Amino acid sequence: MLNGKAAVVTGSTSGIGLGIAKALAADGADILLNGLGDAQQIEALREELAAEYGVKVAYCGADMTKPAEIERMIETANRELGKVDIVVNNAGIQHVAPVHAFPIDRWDAVIAINLTAPFLITRAVLPGMLERNWGRIINIASTHGWVASVDKSAYVASKHGIMGFTKAVALETATTGVTCNAICPGWVLTPLVQKQIDALAEREGLSEEDATIELLGEKQPSLQFTKPDQLGALAVFLCSEGAANMRGIGIPVDGGWLAQ
Ligand code: NAD
Repeated sequence: MLNGKAAVVTGSTSGIGLGIAKALAADGADILLNGLGDAQQIEALREELAAEYGVKVAYCGADMTKPAEIERMIETANRELGKVDIVVNNAGIQHVAPVHAFPIDRWDAVIAINLTAPFLITRAVLPGMLERNWGRIINIASTHGWVASVDKSAYVASKHGIMGFTKAVALETATTGVTCNAICPGWVLTPLVQKQIDALAEREGLSEEDATIELLGEKQPSLQFTKPDQLGALAVFLCSEGAANMRGIGIPVDGGWLAQ
């Protein structure tokens, strides 16, 4: 379905972003990977995806806190893939602390990566999408785009912000072939969540298994993690003709978190 389309997936060197990049590539899209990590491992990943799915796979290590690097990433995508049809704004970070003790530099970093980078990327790719009258902008928000949790003020603010941004872009493009929507995962077992399980285990003197059950039990009634490839399947659906008139929504994939 996505043969001939070119996708930029930020933060795709691990976790959810990698799951989504693989799903888009499996459907035929050329991919620009982005994210931090060991250069050799990333090159091996790039080659592996290109060989497995028979699509072009480029990489740009742009830091999502730096506007000039974000601009360079979009230039790289246009140069190496010819255009940008699909953007998945996925790169994101978390910091956990009560608001009165929240380090200002962590607040700034969370807002920069989770909210400002998607704005800068959307701003850069939208003119080309509108010119070709086809585009998909998919923002990876969170259940924290709908509700809050304690000690996550910056993350919750950034994810509520990206939900608002998603709606605003969807309205501005509503009569065109460009759509903008958000995916709102609950718990997905990735390095971002593993850090929170480790911190909980240490704080409460629990085994990793018990900490995992406590973490899931508090919020996610299914007691199961969502898997990155399940989010990849949803991203592929949002790129399909079936989703062409879905505009400005945030779709939870959350094991019942928001049903409570
Ligand atoms: P992760 O830590 O596994 O991956 C994050 C990716 O972002 C990595 O590729 C990392 O290299 C990249 N990244 C981090 N800082 C960056 C920077 N400054 N510049 C460029 N890339 C950077 O995290 P994840 O759990 O896969 O999270 C991906 C997205 O999904 C985030 O937006 C997160 O908020 C969201 N999310 C995750 C969960 C979950 O349970 N894991 C739940 C809801 C939403």
